[in-house]
Amino acid sequence: MSEKGIQDQGELVKLRSANDLRKTMDGYFARLKEAAETRSRKIAWCTSVGPAELLYSMGFEVYFPENHGAMLGAGKNADKYIPTAVAHGYSPDICSYLTSDIGAFLQNETPLQKSGFRSVPRPDILVYNTNQCREVEDWFSFYARHFNVPIVGIHTPLCISDLSPEIVKSVSDQYHRIIPELEKVAERMFDIDSFRETVGLSHDGCVLWKQVLEKARHIPSPINFFDSAIHMGPIVVMRGTSHAVEYYKILLAELEERIQNNISAVPVEHFRIYWEGMPLWYRLSSLAKLFAKLNTCIVASTYCNSWVFDDLSQAEPFESSALAYCKLFIVRSDAIKENVLEQLVKDFTVQGIIYHESKTCARNSNNRFGLQNRLFKRTGIPYLEINGDLNDPRCYSEEQSIIAIETFIDQLSGHLNNSTL
Ligand code: SF4
Repeated sequence: MSEKGIQDQGELVKLRSANDLRKTMDGYFARLKEAAETRSRKIAWCTSVGPAELLYSMGFEVYFPENHGAMLGAGKNADKYIPTAVAHGYSPDICSYLTSDIGAFLQNETPLQKSGFRSVPRPDILVYNTNQCREVEDWFSFYARHFNVPIVGIHTPLCISDLSPEIVKSVSDQYHRIIPELEKVAERMFDIDSFRETVGLSHDGCVLWKQVLEKARHIPSPINFFDSAIHMGPIVVMRGTSHAVEYYKILLAELEERIQNNISAVPVEHFRIYWEGMPLWYRLSSLAKLFAKLNTCIVASTYCNSWVFDDLSQAEPFESSALAYCKLFIVRSDAIKENVLEQLVKDFTVQGIIYHESKTCARNSNNRFGLQNRLFKRTGIPYLEINGDLNDPRCYSEEQSIIAIETFIDQLSGHLNNSTL
């Protein structure tokens, strides 16, 4: 049966590119596993919006603990591991990626074991950027102590309003300062041409990813937040490689084809919603089904947009990296965030906003300081706040949230009818 035929029966249609996504991700993990087993290439651990380009350009295989944290969440196992980290002194109120990841490590378990890994790949060096939060420094420091390996970091100012040349220069200088330690561990010299090439690939991958996300501006949208949260894997872990670039060309072509054939991400799209905050990894698929049943497409999100580093430039690899990683939504002041959100809700024809207040991630919960009210005053777009968490299911009341979401969509329907009278 054709995709359109399946949709006419009210079913969610999986993106065909999911097969290529699996192959692309399998390739990434196979390279990592080979490096971990043979020690033929050095392994760097990197934060999800850390200097991956620098590391790939110096020949490291790059492992991302946050990606691992999301795997633990999606596997619905985080609450099994968090208590172990808590018993080792990590508060249950701090990042549940951190607590589930460290807890799983202390229990000597990882979803990577299903792919033949003995454990998470042993790092030769850990590299972080505090642009997203301070937790990552503490998280990586745990492993630096455990493995007795070097750790280096870039410290970025937070809540940036005016992204001044001084801030960009200070971050760019820090990129330069970590290179000698990377050279020592990599046992090779930094090469500017290789860095330029990697930055160029990262730029191209990010531009393609942006184009993928922007396809959701089309009515009806061919992709929703739940698809994007899965298909963002390559831009997170293979940014700066041709693997990500090649994959997003495939996905983009499929979305263009969907638009031509009028295939939408949800069988019937009556409502278009913006998702602010982290995904609930352990409820991704049940929420996807719920919104589809409510004829609602989540067309855009802060989370998936966070990997669009289109300011990267081969011509100025250091300065453009500093600029791109400081310009990121999570690093900015509320005033800037409000402007960004106002523009996005216009661009994606959004009719309502859902704020996910994630208990253990303050930095990705933007409804704690009144932003939601100020944005409502500016745009008139109704919003709903849901309490939950990215990984810890104990912070989420499913029953209550489903009622709140159903009521919100119902009210949205009334709101839209009134505004068209
Ligand atoms: S941004 Fe939030 S989820 Fe990500 S590492 Fe920091 S605290 Fe954890």
